[in-house]
Amino acid sequence: MIQRLVFIGLMGMFLLSCEGPKHYDTLILHGNVYDGTGTEASVLDIGIIDSMIVAMGDLEGATADRIIDAQSLAVAPGFIDMHAHLEPIMELNDCESMVRQGVTTALGGPDGGSPWPLRAFMDSLQVKGVGMNVAYLIGHNTVRRNVMGLDNRAPTRLELDSMKSEIEQGMLDGAYGISTGLKYLPGTFSKVDEVIELSKVASKYGGIYTSHLREEGLGLLAAVREAIQISAGADIPVILTHHKVIGKPMWGKSVETLALVDSARAQGLDIQMDQYPYTASYTGISVLIPSWAMAGGQKAFKERIADQRLKDSIKQGIIFNILNDRGGGDLDRIQFAKVDWQPDLEGKTLKYWCIEQGLDTTIANGAELVIQAQLNGGASCVYHVMIEEDVKRIMQHPQTMIGSDGRLVKPGMGHPHPRWYGTFPRVLGHYVREEKTLTLPQAIHKMTGQSAHTLGLADRGELREGLRADVVIFDPETVIDKATFEEPHQYPVGILYVLINGTLAVDEGNYLNTRSGLVLRKH
Ligand SMILES: [Zn+2]
Repeated sequence: MIQRLVFIGLMGMFLLSCEGPKHYDTLILHGNVYDGTGTEASVLDIGIIDSMIVAMGDLEGATADRIIDAQSLAVAPGFIDMHAHLEPIMELNDCESMVRQGVTTALGGPDGGSPWPLRAFMDSLQVKGVGMNVAYLIGHNTVRRNVMGLDNRAPTRLELDSMKSEIEQGMLDGAYGISTGLKYLPGTFSKVDEVIELSKVASKYGGIYTSHLREEGLGLLAAVREAIQISAGADIPVILTHHKVIGKPMWGKSVETLALVDSARAQGLDIQMDQYPYTASYTGISVLIPSWAMAGGQKAFKERIADQRLKDSIKQGIIFNILNDRGGGDLDRIQFAKVDWQPDLEGKTLKYWCIEQGLDTTIANGAELVIQAQLNGGASCVYHVMIEEDVKRIMQHPQTMIGSDGRLVKPGMGHPHPRWYGTFPRVLGHYVREEKTLTLPQAIHKMTGQSAHTLGLADRGELREGLRADVVIFDPETVIDKATFEEPHQYPVGILYVLINGTLAVDEGNYLNTRSGLVLRKH
């Protein structure tokens, strides 16, 4: 009996190895294949049928509808963007600005803000068609605003229960976890207990928690400790998202934040990070205004400014933030990006605006103009307030993944942060090839396998038979971002082919609007 089984087994192996030339939809030949696990490349062929990788190895002699010669090119799993602002995805559903970076899956709903109700939104997006795979987090600010408006107080028992049931609903609808933006309204009014209670609901459904920390400047270390406390209290994996160190007094402190991460991990907590590869951040100008002054929203802010005593104290708070936090101590470090009420300011700095207004370029006058900008309806700004040393140190940490923190964009739309166009090629071109901050397999792992594992995407993030054919093929000798702070509307170069669920979305560097993405649902 055993001999018979051995014989049948041997025959099977013989038949497999003698199988004639096969036909594939797409065949990628002779590429340096990085499988996404962090190991070095091997030269392999990849056969794709429909949306799946069905064969890897020496596929000499096989035929295909489309053959891509990847000789001397890098072949990697499609990149996963761990922090994506997917707005306005209903208008820009081709997702060209992300796909052309090699991104095949992006995690939306960061910083506490997500579409709501999630299920209806995801359903209509799938019907409309989408250019890459998207997954969503549930935004804490979104849920808190639904239940409590912009109130500066703790929730009642009833309100907390309402928020918990919204999060439960979101998880059942397919979210991958929750996000907070504890620096922003109204999340900034929540205490740690509230976030722990809500995170427990996400944890129950296997979700993660990504935290835009309460502070990234002077209060950074306490904020990292708070995120670790939430991981322990809710028993949930935590990602310190777009991890960075802001403001002159804090530069270099990534040594301490990473030590906090390491010691938490040594105690068994699952703490990770994601990062964008730039020394400037991008957010609303209201980040410079003390949060108590923004409670209740724009109308309440206007009322406070009308009261001279309150206005003075708001101005003092802004001066403090310009000196010690997001202002970097210099009005030239604050650069306008999107200014609906005066578009010619876009690309110019707060210092420039002072001069244009005939004012001395003092910090106090800068603070006065910040108030003016907010009264006009606010503005988005780029803040040049990090140092290279911290960016590199965080990037090299084994628990750091890559996230663009970019929005979907197309040429001509405002003056965005260059990360919206350049994040992934910049890591590969600048930080791997030029700076040697990471090796190529390490960088690819941080953009693929590590991220898929964190999200629980078992069928993506690596190149293996039986997984989805999300693949990027790039030239490691030329890949680079082209978007700059001055000229941000530029696509990267060197990303030659992108396949999403087996369909070519970028072909010889040309973007094809094939919308082969899926709206991914955890449940
Ligand atoms: Zn953020």
